[in-house]
Amino acid sequence: MDYPGNLFVVAAPSGAGKSSLVKALMELDSRVQPSVSHTTRAPRGQEKHGREYFFVSQQEFDGMVLAEAFVEWAHVHGQRYGTSKKAIEDRIVQGADVILEIDFQGALQIKKVFANAVLIFILPPSWEELRSRLERRGEDSAEVIELRLRNAALEMAQAREFDFVIINELFERALFDLKAIVHAQRLKFAAQRRARADTFQALNIT
Ligand code: GDP
Ligand code: ADP
Ligand code: 5GP
Repeated sequence: MDYPGNLFVVAAPSGAGKSSLVKALMELDSRVQPSVSHTTRAPRGQEKHGREYFFVSQQEFDGMVLAEAFVEWAHVHGQRYGTSKKAIEDRIVQGADVILEIDFQGALQIKKVFANAVLIFILPPSWEELRSRLERRGEDSAEVIELRLRNAALEMAQAREFDFVIINELFERALFDLKAIVHAQRLKFAAQRRARADTFQALNIT
């Protein structure tokens, strides 16, 4: 189905810079809205319920799975994360562009439900840099960092399934690449015909 809004799905190993890039994109472009996931993990220092995530108990998460409230959900780094239908459907129908920051398993599930979803994979420039970003961020314990680095190899092997790949070496360059992908989607025929209906009509293009 062709919705008026775009669905962008960004995946990356933890520490590659996904959240920073998506946040910077949304600050520059108010037409891009986040989808707030549900998770069973505990909030980190500055995280707020309903902003980064809806932080829920295992029981609440089970309830949502049973109620089929999720478009996709997955086990990631020993926790469960899911995208609720409510977080995206109404908004892309209304023409908003929604961006999901989810793991690769979720991204591939989303592509099955929304064939037009644009899948973007963020890679770090090297293993050394990935490790040092996780350490510098200072949000996770040493064991959690080791787990995330072990999972990173498996995650990065999935990059080939994605439509686009961005290497986040210089942040501003990577942000430019992300903006370019969003911009290109808005220039697609169906999107332009919708956005510039008057021009198309005047030019007799159906
Ligand atoms: P980060 O890796 O530092 O961004 O840590 P997070 O705790 O924010 O994310 C943990 C993992 O869960 C990442 O791989 C996310 O992409 C993934 N994730 C977040 N939200 C969702 C979601 O709604 N669905 C799925 N499938 N994965 C998600
Ligand atoms: P993710 O959401 O993929 O786990 P974050 O956006 O939290 O990653 O980024 C991980 C850490 O790396 C953060 O401390 C962030 O400030 C930093 N970072 C992100 N992009 C770059 C970059 N291009 N160069 C240097 N540090 C970066
Ligand atoms: P963190 O715990 O560091 O916030 O996130 C860890 C991983 O979980 C990240 O790779 C993030 O993209 C992923 N993640 C966050 N929300 C979701 C979600 O709703 N679904 C899935 N599948 N993964 C998610």
